[in-house]
Amino acid sequence: MGALKSLGIKAIGALLHRMGILALISRCVDVVQKSSASATDVHFPCVQKRSSRPIQILMYHGIGDERSPFLGPAPIRGFTNQLRYLAEYCHVLDLEEAVERMQHHDVPHRAVVITLDDGYRDSYVNAFPRLQELNLPATIFLATAAIGTGNVLWHDRACWMVSQTSIPALEGFGSCPRYELGTWEGKQAAQEAVLWYLRSLDDQHRIEAIEQLSTKLQVFGEPDPEPRLMLNWEEVKEMYQAGIRFGAHTVSHPILSKISLPAVAAELRESKETIEQHIGCRVTTFAYPSGRPEDYNSDIQQIVKQEGFGCAVSTVSGANYAGDDLFDLKRVGYWDQDIGPFGLRFEYTRFCA
Ligand SMILES: [Zn+2]
Repeated sequence: MGALKSLGIKAIGALLHRMGILALISRCVDVVQKSSASATDVHFPCVQKRSSRPIQILMYHGIGDERSPFLGPAPIRGFTNQLRYLAEYCHVLDLEEAVERMQHHDVPHRAVVITLDDGYRDSYVNAFPRLQELNLPATIFLATAAIGTGNVLWHDRACWMVSQTSIPALEGFGSCPRYELGTWEGKQAAQEAVLWYLRSLDDQHRIEAIEQLSTKLQVFGEPDPEPRLMLNWEEVKEMYQAGIRFGAHTVSHPILSKISLPAVAAELRESKETIEQHIGCRVTTFAYPSGRPEDYNSDIQQIVKQEGFGCAVSTVSGANYAGDDLFDLKRVGYWDQDIGPFGLRFEYTRFCA
């Protein structure tokens, strides 16, 4: 049923885009939505009336085509198509400017922000040249323990263990059901379940569980340092000088609601200061690791403010409006490879979510 729906979206999206109807619908709805409720009596089906224009913050992690043993990257073709759509139809801002415009109730039409999390090297190799080619700004959130150190983040180490194992099945690991590991698809399903479980644990239990996973899967040590998974500081500086912006994403990528508040403050402060030292500029944007509603709370938001950030993004899906809480910004992730279905999902979330 899900596959059928996805096929339907693909076909309809492609058709609407090819015929130019998607752009037309989008412009019509834009006009209707931007008007305040009292300014017009026209109602577009399903469209939420708002008194201000939406800002969509797009969220990516890795961008690449190879079968990665780590957290799976989004395919390059899809990313490129999405950028082309944004360059043609949208006003792409960097996150700092978007926040400033939200504060001044001055959000432009079809405002979009592009963000990439964690600091994967493919942000430099695959995303950066395509962003430059289309002259699009973006913000990359860095988990600084993995930048220029040869280390990988805990979720990537866990995924790597699952991908490398020759054990036929994973069972008896926390709350995860049994997973057959004989195929790539089986391993991908197991990776997702393992990450889901690990995110539910506090720091100490997570560290212990990862060691238990290592024993169960009979995969020990760390991933090979080559090919390098994460960015180094030279790449960060080169991108910064070319206009890419950087935000903090903690040092070690802990689930903030699972560690103490002083530890939250230390993670935020150290990652912010480290990035500032390397790029020579103030860092004012932050992304909550994992970013689900259960991964942060009002105490943590308060610390984000106290540590000198001007906004924070989650992974909660939706658009943002002037007057929204700047420390609870929503994002959206789209994985459609083709422009048509991407446009359809994009417009749907912009107006109806
Ligand atoms: Zn992250």
